Parts: sequence; C-alpha cells; structure tokens
Amino acid sequence: MTRIFDMNSPDDRARGLGAAAAALGEDRLVAVPTETVYGLAADAFSPTAVAAVFAAKGRPNFNPLIVHCPSVAAVGDVAVMGETAERLAEAFWPGPLTLVLERAPVSRIAPAATAGLATVAVRVPAEPVCRDLLGLYGKPLVAPSANVSGHVSATTAAHVVADLGDAVAVVLDAGPSALGIESTIVEVSDDAARILRHGALTRAAIEDALGRPLQAAPDKDTAIVAPGMTASHYAPRAALRLDATSVEDGEALLQFGGQAVANADGAVAVIDLSPSGDLDEAATRLFAALRDLDAVADRIAVVPIPATGAGEAINDRLRRAAAPRY
Ligand code: AMP
Ligand code: MG
Repeated sequence: MTRIFDMNSPDDRARGLGAAAAALGEDRLVAVPTETVYGLAADAFSPTAVAAVFAAKGRPNFNPLIVHCPSVAAVGDVAVMGETAERLAEAFWPGPLTLVLERAPVSRIAPAATAGLATVAVRVPAEPVCRDLLGLYGKPLVAPSANVSGHVSATTAAHVVADLGDAVAVVLDAGPSALGIESTIVEVSDDAARILRHGALTRAAIEDALGRPLQAAPDKDTAIVAPGMTASHYAPRAALRLDATSVEDGEALLQFGGQAVANADGAVAVIDLSPSGDLDEAATRLFAALRDLDAVADRIAVVPIPATGAGEAINDRLRRAAAPRY
C-alpha cells in the first residue's frame, strides 16, 4: 500500500516526513517533490535500496543516478570539488543544477548508483520538503524522476502513482513541481565544464556565473559520456510530430504562444504551453501537457518552439519524446 501525504497541510507534513524517513531506513522507495520534477528517492548508501530504484523504474543499469545531498559540505563527502565546481555550487546550489564530478576516493555511495563510473552526479535541491527530508534522514538520496524509465517525467503526485503505484511506499505530495523540467547537468573535469543535459537552469545563467562559454552538449550519437542520454526518452504513448504548422486528422495539438496553425479547429484537443509565449512557463507545463494529450490522442502535433533560454531544454525533451523507440 502506498501512503500519500499532503505536504501543504502542517500535520500531514510532519507525519509524511517521519513516514518517509522510516521507509528510507528500511530500503523502501519514497516519491519526493523537488523543484524540477518528482524524484523516486532511496538511500544512496544502500545497494538494496538503489537496486530497488532501478527495478521499479525498469531503468537500464548502465544509466547512473543523481545523488541528492542536503548541503555543499555533504557533497564534499562523495565527490571531489575543484575550483570550477565550487564556483557553480556557490552560484546555483541549492537549485536545479547537477554537477558530474570525480568520485571521492573513499565514498559510501552504492556502486550501482553511479553505474560503476569513476564520476558521480550530485545536486543540492532547493524544494523545502525535499530539503527537510534530506536533513531528517541525514544521508544522501538517489532520486531519478519518479516515472517508468523512458516515459514522460512526473510533475505531480498523481503522475507518480499512475506510473509506479505500489512500488512506492510513501508519496510526499507538495503540488505540481515548480519548474517542471529536470536539472541541467554540467560535467566538470579538470577545469573544463560542459553541458551534458539541458534543463531548468539556462546555459546563459551558467555561462554568466563562469564568465566563459560552456562547451556544447554531446549530440545523441556521441553520448557515451552520458550513459543515460538515450535518444528515446520522456516519451508519451502517442507519436509526436514536431515543427507542425497544421493539424492532421486525429491529431492533438501542443501549442505555444497561440501560433497560427492550419486546421487547429480539427484538433482532438489543444493545450497551449504558454499563450503569452513565455518559455519558462512552457517548460513548467510541458510534461503534464504531454500526459494530458496522450490520454486523448494517438498522435500529437507540436508547433515549433524557440530554442533560446528554457527553450533549449524544451526542444531537447521534445526531440527525445519524438525519437524512434526500440
Ligand atoms: P534522471 O535521474 O532520470 O534525471 O537522469 C540522470 C541523468 O544523469 C542521466 O541522464 C545520466 O546519464 C546522468 N548521469 C548520472 N551520473 C552520471 C555520470 N557519472 N556521468 C555522466 N552522466 C551521468
Ligand atoms: Mg528521468
């Protein structure tokens, strides 16, 4: 039985945190809100708990997990922080930035969490419930998105339950995710920094903090450095048709900024990610919109979305959601 707590009610909040910490201590899985998407949290030091995360998601074991820490100091116990990492941490933690760093020489992180790599992905999240749970539990948590591997990420507690059901012992429901799209992943080695995955934190903000340009994300054919960057990901059941300027029979329409689209009236359903054309708002609503349209149509036409600012991450997710599946 999954226990769901309303974290916006003070009584439930305290009981929810207690139940979550107890479940984690028994190697069970907890769905926890973060500012990006809902995470499927487990004790990062426990091989049993980490194995349960891979099993519940059906996640391939070569795809490493992000380790969530309560503080920058706690990151220092599991990873080597160089000058560039310190600078990014100072600017953006707590927040939606993940750093891929060299593993600490001695670390208790379960080897499966990093898929046996010499590096570890770490983040200090900002969402208050998540921070309170990390503080209460006192150990780092792995927390990949709380959805079936390859499916659309979960941005509400209902999405979590729909995808994972009884595999989750406790769901901490804090309402819809504030940012709605995953963290930006930056690999820092020696002094070079490059984006491995676009996300909630824009390239421009990171480059500003560094005072120099970042290297580009590896494209999908050279994705060995980022084992989880599979071409097909974030995918609804429905087929996606990108850069659509018209709606074909039987299609739902994913709109942005109220663009002119031929035969829009013929769409099975229409969701505009941001009628005013705000890319941050569109990122927040993307995954919920894909799930909603997926429920009513087999094919989704998606209008072109500008690839600037938050649009870089939106277009990345849409490309992967539209990619051929195997
Ligand atoms: P998710 O938890 O589903 O948001 O995915 C985490 C992402 O982080 C995956 O795409 C992984 O490939 C990536 N990742 C985690 N650890 C590492 C690492 N050590 N090196 C490179 N990428 C990583
Ligand atoms: Mg995910």
